[in-house]
Amino acid sequence: MILIRVSASNTAALGLHVEGRVLAVPGVVPNAPPGVVERAPNLGWHGVRPADHWPDRDTAPEPENEANLGALAEYWSAEQAAETFVHVSAESGIGAALVIDGRLFRGARGFAGELGHIPVHPDGPDCPCGSRGCLEQYAGDAAVLREAGLADHRTGDPVALLAERAAAGHAPTLHALDRAGRALGLALASAVELVDPDALVLGGAYAELADWLLPSVRAELAARVTVRPWDPQALRPSALGRRGPLLGAALTTVRRIMADPMLLPAG
Ligand SMILES: [Zn+2]
Repeated sequence: MILIRVSASNTAALGLHVEGRVLAVPGVVPNAPPGVVERAPNLGWHGVRPADHWPDRDTAPEPENEANLGALAEYWSAEQAAETFVHVSAESGIGAALVIDGRLFRGARGFAGELGHIPVHPDGPDCPCGSRGCLEQYAGDAAVLREAGLADHRTGDPVALLAERAAAGHAPTLHALDRAGRALGLALASAVELVDPDALVLGGAYAELADWLLPSVRAELAARVTVRPWDPQALRPSALGRRGPLLGAALTTVRRIMADPMLLPAG
């Protein structure tokens, strides 16, 4: 499959027909009512229905949590995908998704996977979610940049900047990534105890920072997982990186049509 960046204005010129639109959102998309983003704090969205802001209701995009799309892309495109795994990524906040026996686990209401708000330090800093000491306060993009002394660099490509500084041996950045990795390992150890997954996949920005995150995440897992001997290789970065949610959105439409080709217009 080839991903081509297209815009509404050039699809016709390319001879392409848009058959579906999926909007990857860094927020909670409940099972019901359909088409509503309940909250996306980093976008300032609460109870937003994207279709209400789309010029044509018939072609409005269907919102889906970007972490779910990243996990589905991993499952659908990896050469040897695990059947049960936890996929955790960081773009705007931290998103996680569970694939259990080859199916995305959404939870009773669609809220599963809010790993970013699992407390990793009970007396840690306040979190905008109302709790405190959440994983996001240690391993979220804003927290890592702040700890690395790069809080003024949130525009541009902060992930590339972190990777560049870490590769150059910038001590505050290395410290920030080690701290993030330890917090991430702590939260993922709980996920392992609860779910018993075949694999843990670091996606999105975490995949691009894996060289500096993996050692501390692995150390925490080795120290804390008790349910069975922990295989360090069960933790791995995604090959898709930040393209995961985009690929997942595209594959959602492709797979829907492959399952029911009658969805395609005649002609
Ligand atoms: Zn929180």
